[in-house]
Amino acid sequence: MSAYDKSNVFARILRGEIPAKIIYEDDYALAFPDIAPQAPVHVLIIPKGPYTSFDDFSTSATDAEIIGFNRAIVAVARKLGVHESGYRVLSNVGVHSGQEVPHYHVHLCGGAPLGPLLS
Ligand code: IMP
Repeated sequence: MSAYDKSNVFARILRGEIPAKIIYEDDYALAFPDIAPQAPVHVLIIPKGPYTSFDDFSTSATDAEIIGFNRAIVAVARKLGVHESGYRVLSNVGVHSGQEVPHYHVHLCGGAPLGPLLS
């Protein structure tokens, strides 16, 4: 993927230039609702660093960032009360996945049975 574009919408949310309802924040991550939810619970979790995708993050971020970010995902699931009923964590990478926003993010979905992954 190409170089990080700091004008992307999630970078702008991180800088406070676009409003978002912050559900969770720590040193490594920010979480807010997806603007077009696909499930009763549909939250986006993004790292604070300038990474374009899961692929970029996993090769470029520090161990502390990777561990901190993954723990933040679990903290969000607990905060939203879906950790016992179950939830899905998904991240699109690049063109074939349909990734729209070039700042690494995971979708955390739950709140009801989600059906097959690729339906
Ligand atoms: P992607 O296809 O994995 O890149 O998903 C991008 C997601 O970002 C989509 O589900 C959009 O609905 C969501 N989205 C785009 N702009 C905003 C926004 O400003 N706030 C919250 N979610 C957004």
